[in-house]
Amino acid sequence: MSQDAQNAEETAAIDHAKWAVVLLVDDQAMVAEGIRRMLADEPDIKFHYCPDPKKAVHEAIACNATVILQDLVMPDVDGMTLVRFYRNNPATRDVPIIVLSSKDDPHIKSDAFDQGATDYLVKLPEKVELLARIRAHAKSYIAQKERDEAFRNLSRMQAQLEKMNDELAHSNRELQRLSSMDGLTGLANRRQFDETLEQEWQRAMRTSLPLSLIFLDIDFFKRYNDHYGHQAGDDCLKKVAGALEKTIHRPADLVSRYGGEEFVMILPDTTNEGALAVAEKVLASLTGLKIPHANSAVADHVTLSIGVATAAPREDSQPEELIETADKMLYRAKERGRNCIEVALLPPTRKSSNG
Ligand code: GH3
Ligand code: MG
Ligand code: MG
Repeated sequence: MSQDAQNAEETAAIDHAKWAVVLLVDDQAMVAEGIRRMLADEPDIKFHYCPDPKKAVHEAIACNATVILQDLVMPDVDGMTLVRFYRNNPATRDVPIIVLSSKDDPHIKSDAFDQGATDYLVKLPEKVELLARIRAHAKSYIAQKERDEAFRNLSRMQAQLEKMNDELAHSNRELQRLSSMDGLTGLANRRQFDETLEQEWQRAMRTSLPLSLIFLDIDFFKRYNDHYGHQAGDDCLKKVAGALEKTIHRPADLVSRYGGEEFVMILPDTTNEGALAVAEKVLASLTGLKIPHANSAVADHVTLSIGVATAAPREDSQPEELIETADKMLYRAKERGRNCIEVALLPPTRKSSNG
C-alpha cells in the first residue's frame, strides 16, 4: 500500500470514529420522517431507524450506535423497559440514550432518568436543539470509548513490559549463575572465588574476624589421567568436588575450582583450628570415597594435599598474601609426601598435621 493510500485509510478510520451514529427507535413513521429530515444534511451524523421495539437492542449493537433516540410509548415493549435493556447489555451499557417523549411531565422525566436515560426531549424537538444534544452526547461517548481503549492498550503494554522484565531478570540471574560457575564440576569458578575473597576480606576487616583459606590439589592426577583416561579424570574431579561441597555447611563458606585439579575454600569467620578441622574432614571423606588410583605413590585411592592459611585482615594487608601463604602450605604438603595438611597463621607461624 502506498503512503498516500495508507494515510487516506487512517484519516477515514479517524473520521468514522468521530461520526455520530444515531439510532431512532419509534413505532411512528411520521416521527421518524421528521427526525430523518432534521439530520439529513449533517455530514457528521449517520441515521438509522428501527420501528420495531423488539429489535431495538439488536439494531443498536449492529449499527454501533453512539446515540439512541428512544420513544417511550410503543406497542409490545414500552420505552422505559427498553432503556433498562440497553443498560443491562454490556454492548449498549454506556451508549447515551435520549428519550423522546410526547409528554413534558416531570414524573415521567424522573422515571426515565432513574431507568438510565441520559437526556430527555419532548417530541418533536427543535432541530438546533436535537443536533446540539446528539453531538454533545456522541462526542463524550466516543471520547470515553477512546479513553477506555487507550487504557486497555496501556494495561496490555504494561503487562507485556512486566513479563519482559521478569524474563530479563530471570535471564540475568541465569547468566550471572553461569558466568560464576565452573562448567565441569558445578562449583564456583575462579572469577567467583576472586570476587568472594575480596568481599570477605573487606568484611573481615570491618568485623575483625579471622578469615581462612584452604587450597586442595589432587595427588598424582596426571598419572590418574594417563591410567584411566581423560573422561575418567573428569568424573574423578566431579566426585572430589561433590565431597568438598558436602564438607562445608555455613552459608558464607565457598568452595571453588581454582583451576585444573586444584580447589580452594574460603571460610569466613573461621580460626586456624577450625579450618584445620575442615581440612581433616576433607581428607577423611576422600579416604571414605575410595576412588581407586592404581598409580598413586601414596595410597591405592585418590588423595589430596592441602594447604591451610588463616589471616586477621587489616588495612595494611592484602588477600594476595593469604592466597600466597595457603599455596605455599599446599606446596609444603606435596613436599612432605602428599595426602596431608600444612597449616599457617598470618603473620606466618608454622604448624603441620598428618592426614
Ligand atoms: P601432584 O601430585 O604433584 O599434584 O601431581 P599431579 O599429576 O596431580 O600434578 P600435575 O600438575 O603434574 O598434573 C595435573 C594434571 O591434572 C594434568 C592434567 O592432565 C590434569 N587435569 C587438569 N585439569 C583437568 C581436567 O579438567 N580434566 C582432567 N581429566 N584432567 C585435568
Ligand atoms: Mg595434582
Ligand atoms: Mg596441580
